[in-house]
Amino acid sequence: MSGYMLSDDGKLFVQAAREFAEKELRPVVAECDRSGEFPLKLYKRAAELGLSSVEIPEEFGGPGLDYITVAAMYEEIGRIDAGFGVSMGASSLAFKPVLLGGTPEQNRLYAESIMAGKFAAFCLTEPNAGSDAGAVATTAVKKGDGYVLNGSKCFITNGGVADLYTVFASTDPALKLRGLSCFIVEKGTPGLSAGKEENKMGIRLSNTTDVVLNDVHIPAGNLVGKEGRGFILAMKTLDSARCSLAPFAVGVARRALEEATAYAKNRQQFGKPISSLQAIQFMLADMAIRTETARQMAVHALTLVQEKRPYGLDGSIAKCYSADIAVQNALDAIQIMGGYGYSRDMPAEKLLRDAKIFQIFEGTNQVQRAVIASHIIR
Ligand SMILES: Cc1cc2nc3c(=O)[nH]c(=O)nc-3n(C[C@H](O)[C@H](O)[C@H](O)COP(=O)(O)OP(=O)(O)OC[C@H]3O[C@@H](n4cnc5c(N)ncnc54)[C@H](O)[C@@H]3O)c2cc1C
Repeated sequence: MSGYMLSDDGKLFVQAAREFAEKELRPVVAECDRSGEFPLKLYKRAAELGLSSVEIPEEFGGPGLDYITVAAMYEEIGRIDAGFGVSMGASSLAFKPVLLGGTPEQNRLYAESIMAGKFAAFCLTEPNAGSDAGAVATTAVKKGDGYVLNGSKCFITNGGVADLYTVFASTDPALKLRGLSCFIVEKGTPGLSAGKEENKMGIRLSNTTDVVLNDVHIPAGNLVGKEGRGFILAMKTLDSARCSLAPFAVGVARRALEEATAYAKNRQQFGKPISSLQAIQFMLADMAIRTETARQMAVHALTLVQEKRPYGLDGSIAKCYSADIAVQNALDAIQIMGGYGYSRDMPAEKLLRDAKIFQIFEGTNQVQRAVIASHIIR
């Protein structure tokens, strides 16, 4: 498979990500997946190695990596544990609206926090505002020289572990979408708390909680950009974040192919390895075709992001396709492993549980198909 066209430096970064994932992450994955434990020490270690700050621009102290190198690194992490990648990536997701609309001081706050191994959380979703993100009911009311926030967010990645919360709230409910604004809320601000932690079917190494805002007073300087810019900042963030989410799903798809191949070469039936059966070979070939196609689609979308060309359509295709094929590859890996694939002692069932989330978050795959269709019929 052709993989990624990387520079010599890029190859070294990807090698470092692979070694971390293989040698340090892999040994703890099964136990954390079972218990739901958040492996904080390992996240700190990933930050020490610079893995959590790969998307931070050079001007704020980041490594200034090109997006293709970042994609290849994310694939290596996703291959070993998608949940670990999702929690790492969620800090970059929370930073993006600030990069798009924030002041240099706000940018430095996020960059320094993430580089120090801390977490950030992107707080958009609410119980009644999922796909319909514009239905956000959290309010931000101007008081003195600041704002008072009230509301409740749900399904927030890093909700229970973040130091910085990027919160979308309405400064003018009558204006609906155009009344949404974006704010920074720091951990420890009175009235901010993490609510119920989700007991998820997959990506169990990531932390997902409700986030409750109860009379949270923040200074006016914590507004990101201008009042009423929140919806645009959220949508632009999600548009570009989808492109960098796809490589984690590609990592899951690749792992499913690797596990299925190793099993098929080893498993003997009718006196020969099942990998000699054309029925199995064709399944493996289809898994490889899907993995490489998704990888190249992600590379293409990220190249558009890097070159500052329109990427909305390509990002939706990359996100939607990589999620669908991660699920299909995990299902096929289970099928190739037969009854053993259905056992929790084998890795394929975890890959299926992990893959499924990519069809749901950062815009469900139905919503992505609606976006893609709107580009086609426009
Ligand atoms: C593990 C996890 C982590 C998450 N992390 C975050 C996070 O960090 N920050 C954050 O803000 N949110 C986060 N989310 C929330 C996630 O983005 C939402 O769950 C997602 O956007 C879907 O919203 P919903 O769950 O309310 O589903 P709904 O919007 O209620 O959708 C239900 C079903 O209806 C379909 N549907 C809805 N509207 C349409 C439409 N217009 N056209 C076609 N079909 C439609 C959907 O595709 C879906 O199948 C996370 C969710 C999970 C599960």
